[in-house]
Amino acid sequence: MSDIVAEIRAAYERVGVRLDQPATYGTYYRLLCAACGRMVGNVGDRLLPGMAAALVEGQADLYATGQLGCACRHGGTAARPAAGT
Ligand SMILES: [Zn+2]
Repeated sequence: MSDIVAEIRAAYERVGVRLDQPATYGTYYRLLCAACGRMVGNVGDRLLPGMAAALVEGQADLYATGQLGCACRHGGTAARPAAGT
């Protein structure tokens, strides 16, 4: 696994999403709900260092309010509050 993929994976872990195997080899990774495994999107690995964290950080509010991510985390079971850091 490349450093950038590790960085992307760590960034998405913060919002309850995990990376699957590449959908297209070495190019796109599926994003799966960490709780139920449902596919919630995909992400390319052609990012520069620091971009993945910034990307997810910019979308953190959307994940927190259920506009992004999986519905299972917003359907009554209290999701882990988004870290404020
Ligand atoms: Zn889910």
